[in-house]
Amino acid sequence: MQVAIVWFRNSLRIHDNPVLSWACESESVDFVLPIYIFDEEIHQGSTFSMGEHRLRFQFDCVEDLQQNLKHKLDLDLHIFSGNCLEVLQSIREQLQPFEVTLLEEFSTAPRERKQSELIERELINVDQNWSAKSFPSCQTILDIGAVVNSPGYRPPKSMKDMVRLFRTKFGDFDNIVFKTNDPDFSPSESKQGLSVKSEHLISLNEIRPLLSEPGYFRGGENEAITRLEKKVTSQHDYVRRFNKPKSISTNVQGNPMEPSTTGLSPYISTGCLSIRRLWNSCSEIQQSSEHTVPPVSIHGQILFREMFYLLSGSVENWDQDSGNSQCKEIEWGELDHALLESWDSGQTGFPLVDAMMRQLNTTGWMHHLGRHAVSCFLTRGQLWQNWTHGRDIFERKLIDSDWALNNGNWLWLAGVAPFSMPYYRIYNPCPDSKSSLNVETKDAEFIRHWVPELSEFPSKYIFEPHLAPLQIQESAGCLIGKDYPNPIVDRKESRKKNLESFKLSLEKLR
Ligand SMILES: Cc1cc2nc3c(=O)[nH]c(=O)nc-3n(C[C@H](O)[C@H](O)[C@H](O)COP(=O)(O)OP(=O)(O)OC[C@H]3O[C@@H](n4cnc5c(N)ncnc54)[C@H](O)[C@@H]3O)c2cc1C
Repeated sequence: MQVAIVWFRNSLRIHDNPVLSWACESESVDFVLPIYIFDEEIHQGSTFSMGEHRLRFQFDCVEDLQQNLKHKLDLDLHIFSGNCLEVLQSIREQLQPFEVTLLEEFSTAPRERKQSELIERELINVDQNWSAKSFPSCQTILDIGAVVNSPGYRPPKSMKDMVRLFRTKFGDFDNIVFKTNDPDFSPSESKQGLSVKSEHLISLNEIRPLLSEPGYFRGGENEAITRLEKKVTSQHDYVRRFNKPKSISTNVQGNPMEPSTTGLSPYISTGCLSIRRLWNSCSEIQQSSEHTVPPVSIHGQILFREMFYLLSGSVENWDQDSGNSQCKEIEWGELDHALLESWDSGQTGFPLVDAMMRQLNTTGWMHHLGRHAVSCFLTRGQLWQNWTHGRDIFERKLIDSDWALNNGNWLWLAGVAPFSMPYYRIYNPCPDSKSSLNVETKDAEFIRHWVPELSEFPSKYIFEPHLAPLQIQESAGCLIGKDYPNPIVDRKESRKKNLESFKLSLEKLR
């Protein structure tokens, strides 16, 4: 008799889930045991790697998964907290009569790779009843392991490389509809579940009171499908005209929470939404008429995502600023806690940066061009801090936090990677209506919402409020330096100095 343990990690969904489908369809499997493991520190309401909003989102995803597994497949998701090896050891004895196969998603993230290696070493290799099976293409379209190990593979540097790769693999890729693995099993066909006991088991009801309130984005596969329908499947013109660099960074008019882009990233990074399902929805719309193409289209965004997964799976030290072939070692300044803290808490005195960071702190999400603005500001733009400090803060706080993408994009924005934008193209953190950060400047609704101290400021001064005459500050009820901070640096001077330092650093590397 065989038990398949389905270990849910980054694919918290029923639809198009190769691991779950295999377990439910394989003739050799008699029982299916779905599991999810939280970090031990979940009892503190946030963990080392997950800030409160990220954890809340993850929690909602797990709860939704548990309900879907029960309703659709009559399977009980066993939820644990603790070290993954200890969790598996704790149920090992109860599974003694069976052959056990641990089913896992392939991952490029070091934390997950280390966990898998530990289990392999301490459990799989020592217990002949246990085996493990890893599944590719759960989080990506490409089989990342196969591509990076194929002869002639070179790390992609640009969208051109990605288009070439996709064309070679899939031909007319922009119209392709990938075969998805939609498990629409009726309960009678599904496998029998199994129940185990463990001191590491936890109930979601124990954790719920420790968590923050649900944010604007609610986690879970059901929410993911609803958002996909609302923003993509039912919006043919939106998909056909999607042009990422032209999208507004300050969210939609009238709703300072709602992204101008799809807002699907939290669902994709937790795997509540299969990336193939998003791809296919776009292909089906695009097939019938003219449409934008990579790099600006939605397919283009997915290609960037695939590119970073390839890089994260093939570049040593992908998350380091040293010993990383994709990172020039710039001599960044000493870590300045005060500067970093002002940036992190949205108190820099630069309203666009502060509004974006406060949005992150409240919702766990920020538009791509907002991320451009704040990451450029922290690194080569104004504060001259190492990109890894910002990366760490994003990793904890973003509800779409993804190791491969977060590192890739920070490398890009810090100007240190072969695929980076030129380091001397620095965003003005006090943008006007022509800025490529695409900020709504006429009413400045976004700034007024996220930086309420400035809500009565005239739009003319709202992006650089310290320049407003005192009389205007008084009538707006906000004195700069008292009610809202003065800029923590002189933006022009710091820009000039940092450009010189970057150039000098590059020269030393030659
Ligand atoms: C400094 C920095 C850090 C970032 N960290 C993350 C992260 O941890 N997780 C994350 O998902 N994205 C990250 N991004 C990429 C990007 O900002 C988000 O994916 C995007 O803003 C999500 O919004 P959306 O779903 O509306 O995107 P859309 O424009 O609607 O794109 C659709 C999907 O394509 C993918 N995508 C879009 N842009 C990118 C990109 N530049 N790189 C890779 N994939 C992309 C996402 O899965 C996204 O959901 C980061 C960007 C920057 C500049």
